Amino acid sequence: MSSSSLDELILALGCLPGVGRKSAQRMALYLLERDQPGARRIADAMDAALEKVKHCKQCRNFCDDDVCEICADGERDQGILCVVEAPADVIAVESSAAFRGRYFVLLGKLSPLDGFGPEQLGLDILEQQLDERDIREIILATSATVEGDITAQYIADVAAARGIASSRLARGIPLGGELEFVDSGTLSRALSGRQQIERS
Ligand SMILES: [Zn+2]
Repeated sequence: MSSSSLDELILALGCLPGVGRKSAQRMALYLLERDQPGARRIADAMDAALEKVKHCKQCRNFCDDDVCEICADGERDQGILCVVEAPADVIAVESSAAFRGRYFVLLGKLSPLDGFGPEQLGLDILEQQLDERDIREIILATSATVEGDITAQYIADVAAARGIASSRLARGIPLGGELEFVDSGTLSRALSGRQQIERS
Protein backbone atom coordinates (compact mmCIF):
# COMPACT_ATOMS: atom_id res chain seq x y z
CA MET A 1 0.00 0.00 0.00
CA SER A 2 1.50 3.30 -1.05
CA SER A 3 1.40 6.15 1.36
CA SER A 4 -1.40 8.64 0.64
CA SER A 5 -0.99 12.38 1.00
CA LEU A 6 -3.07 12.17 4.19
CA ASP A 7 -0.64 9.60 5.63
CA GLU A 8 2.26 11.83 4.68
CA LEU A 9 0.61 14.83 6.40
CA ILE A 10 0.08 12.77 9.56
CA LEU A 11 3.70 11.63 9.53
CA ALA A 12 4.89 15.21 8.95
CA LEU A 13 2.83 16.63 11.84
CA GLY A 14 4.14 13.81 14.03
CA CYS A 15 7.63 15.33 13.88
CA LEU A 16 6.46 18.17 16.17
CA PRO A 17 7.65 17.86 19.79
CA GLY A 18 5.06 16.26 22.04
CA VAL A 19 2.81 15.24 19.15
CA GLY A 20 2.21 11.51 18.91
CA ARG A 21 0.52 9.60 16.10
CA LYS A 22 -3.01 10.09 17.50
CA SER A 23 -2.64 13.85 17.89
CA ALA A 24 -1.04 14.14 14.47
CA GLN A 25 -3.99 12.29 12.99
CA ARG A 26 -6.47 14.54 14.81
CA MET A 27 -4.69 17.69 13.58
CA ALA A 28 -4.49 16.48 9.98
CA LEU A 29 -8.18 15.53 9.86
CA TYR A 30 -9.21 18.76 11.57
CA LEU A 31 -7.31 20.87 9.06
CA LEU A 32 -8.64 19.01 6.04
CA GLU A 33 -12.25 18.77 7.26
CA ARG A 34 -12.73 22.06 9.05
CA ASP A 35 -10.04 24.57 8.27
CA GLN A 36 -8.37 24.34 4.90
CA PRO A 37 -7.59 28.11 4.89
CA GLY A 38 -5.82 27.56 8.22
CA ALA A 39 -3.88 24.67 6.70
CA ARG A 40 -2.86 26.88 3.77
CA ARG A 41 -1.75 29.59 6.19
CA ILE A 42 0.43 27.11 8.13
CA ALA A 43 1.96 25.81 4.89
CA ASP A 44 2.70 29.36 3.63
CA ALA A 45 4.10 30.51 6.98
CA MET A 46 6.32 27.43 7.10
CA ASP A 47 7.59 28.08 3.58
CA ALA A 48 8.27 31.74 4.33
CA ALA A 49 10.02 30.99 7.62
CA LEU A 50 12.23 28.32 6.07
CA GLU A 51 13.06 30.68 3.23
CA LYS A 52 13.70 33.85 5.23
CA VAL A 53 14.77 33.00 8.75
CA LYS A 54 18.48 33.21 9.39
CA HIS A 55 20.70 33.82 12.37
CA CYS A 56 21.52 37.34 13.55
CA LYS A 57 25.17 38.06 12.80
CA GLN A 58 25.70 39.49 16.27
CA CYS A 59 23.70 37.31 18.65
CA ARG A 60 22.82 34.24 16.52
CA ASN A 61 19.12 34.46 17.40
CA PHE A 62 16.59 33.85 14.62
CA CYS A 63 15.65 36.87 12.52
CA ASP A 64 14.78 37.86 8.94
CA ASP A 65 17.57 40.42 8.59
CA ASP A 66 21.33 40.39 9.06
CA VAL A 67 20.93 41.86 12.53
CA CYS A 68 17.93 41.24 14.80
CA GLU A 69 15.69 43.93 16.32
CA ILE A 70 17.21 43.55 19.77
CA CYS A 71 20.81 43.98 18.56
CA ALA A 72 19.75 46.90 16.36
CA ASP A 73 17.91 48.65 19.22
CA GLY A 74 20.04 51.64 20.22
CA GLU A 75 18.02 52.09 23.44
CA ARG A 76 19.36 48.83 24.86
CA ASP A 77 22.46 48.66 27.02
CA GLN A 78 25.23 47.49 24.70
CA GLY A 79 27.59 46.87 27.62
CA ILE A 80 25.76 43.91 29.14
CA LEU A 81 25.37 40.59 27.41
CA CYS A 82 23.07 37.74 28.48
CA VAL A 83 24.33 34.40 27.17
CA VAL A 84 21.62 31.76 26.67
CA GLU A 85 21.45 28.31 25.10
CA ALA A 86 18.42 28.68 22.84
CA PRO A 87 16.16 31.20 21.07
CA ALA A 88 13.33 30.14 23.44
CA ASP A 89 15.43 31.44 26.35
CA VAL A 90 15.59 34.91 24.74
CA ILE A 91 11.79 34.94 24.56
CA ALA A 92 11.58 33.88 28.23
CA VAL A 93 14.01 36.56 29.45
CA GLU A 94 12.34 39.21 27.27
CA SER A 95 8.93 38.36 28.72
CA SER A 96 10.28 38.92 32.23
CA ALA A 97 11.04 42.53 31.12
CA ALA A 98 13.88 42.50 33.66
CA PHE A 99 16.75 42.77 31.20
CA ARG A 100 17.64 45.65 28.90
CA GLY A 101 20.97 44.51 27.49
CA ARG A 102 21.78 42.34 24.51
CA TYR A 103 21.91 38.55 24.09
CA PHE A 104 24.20 35.93 22.72
CA VAL A 105 22.56 32.64 21.73
CA LEU A 106 24.83 29.59 21.85
CA LEU A 107 22.39 27.25 20.06
CA GLY A 108 23.61 24.46 22.33
CA LYS A 109 26.03 23.90 25.19
CA LEU A 110 29.53 22.50 25.42
CA SER A 111 29.34 18.75 25.02
CA PRO A 112 32.43 17.40 23.25
CA LEU A 113 31.02 13.86 23.09
CA ASP A 114 28.07 15.16 21.05
CA GLY A 115 30.33 17.23 18.84
CA PHE A 116 29.50 20.55 20.52
CA GLY A 117 32.74 22.43 20.97
CA PRO A 118 33.45 26.19 21.21
CA GLU A 119 33.21 26.57 17.44
CA GLN A 120 29.68 25.11 17.22
CA LEU A 121 28.57 27.52 19.93
CA GLY A 122 29.89 30.52 18.01
CA LEU A 123 32.35 31.35 20.77
CA ASP A 124 34.74 32.82 18.18
CA ILE A 125 32.02 35.39 17.36
CA LEU A 126 31.50 36.02 21.07
CA GLU A 127 35.25 36.50 21.69
CA GLN A 128 35.46 38.90 18.78
CA GLN A 129 32.66 40.98 20.33
CA LEU A 130 34.40 40.96 23.71
CA ASP A 131 37.52 42.27 21.97
CA GLU A 132 35.87 44.88 19.80
CA ARG A 133 32.91 46.14 21.80
CA ASP A 134 32.65 47.87 25.07
CA ILE A 135 31.16 44.99 27.08
CA ARG A 136 31.44 45.27 30.86
CA GLU A 137 29.37 42.35 32.12
CA ILE A 138 28.25 38.95 30.93
CA ILE A 139 25.26 37.21 32.50
CA LEU A 140 25.48 33.47 31.96
CA ALA A 141 21.97 32.08 31.74
CA THR A 142 22.91 28.61 30.57
CA SER A 143 20.94 25.71 32.03
CA ALA A 144 21.68 24.38 35.52
CA THR A 145 23.03 21.11 34.13
CA VAL A 146 26.58 19.75 34.15
CA GLU A 147 27.11 20.88 30.54
CA GLY A 148 25.43 24.23 31.25
CA ASP A 149 27.80 24.82 34.18
CA ILE A 150 30.87 23.83 32.16
CA THR A 151 29.78 26.14 29.35
CA ALA A 152 29.26 29.01 31.81
CA GLN A 153 32.66 28.50 33.40
CA TYR A 154 34.36 28.32 30.01
CA ILE A 155 32.83 31.63 28.92
CA ALA A 156 33.52 33.21 32.32
CA ASP A 157 37.22 32.34 31.87
CA VAL A 158 37.27 33.75 28.34
CA ALA A 159 35.70 36.96 29.66
CA ALA A 160 37.95 37.14 32.74
CA ALA A 161 41.02 36.92 30.52
CA ARG A 162 39.81 40.25 29.08
CA GLY A 163 38.97 41.75 32.45
CA ILE A 164 35.22 41.37 31.95
CA ALA A 165 33.06 40.27 34.90
CA SER A 166 30.64 37.36 34.55
CA SER A 167 27.69 36.41 36.69
CA ARG A 168 25.39 33.42 36.83
CA LEU A 169 21.64 33.57 37.41
CA ALA A 170 20.75 33.15 41.07
CA ARG A 171 19.73 29.59 41.82
CA GLY A 172 16.08 30.40 42.36
CA ILE A 173 15.45 28.50 39.16
CA PRO A 174 14.57 24.81 39.33
CA LEU A 175 17.74 22.85 38.67
CA GLY A 176 17.96 21.46 35.18
CA GLY A 177 14.90 23.55 34.24
CA GLU A 178 14.91 25.26 30.91
CA LEU A 179 14.42 29.00 31.11
CA GLU A 180 11.36 28.81 28.92
CA PHE A 181 9.48 26.96 31.67
CA VAL A 182 10.37 29.47 34.38
CA ASP A 183 7.75 32.12 35.20
CA SER A 184 8.74 35.71 34.62
CA GLY A 185 8.72 36.71 38.32
CA THR A 186 11.18 33.94 39.21
CA LEU A 187 13.29 34.85 36.23
CA SER A 188 13.50 38.52 37.12
CA ARG A 189 14.46 37.64 40.72
CA ALA A 190 17.13 35.25 39.38
CA LEU A 191 18.44 38.06 37.16
CA SER A 192 18.61 40.65 39.92
CA GLY A 193 20.16 38.14 42.35
CA ARG A 194 22.84 37.05 39.89
CA GLN A 195 26.16 36.04 41.42
CA GLN A 196 29.60 36.78 40.15
CA ILE A 197 31.62 33.80 38.89
CA GLU A 198 35.28 33.56 39.81
CA ARG A 199 37.83 32.65 37.21
CA SER A 200 38.63 28.93 37.39
ZN1 LIG B 1 20.84 39.86 17.38
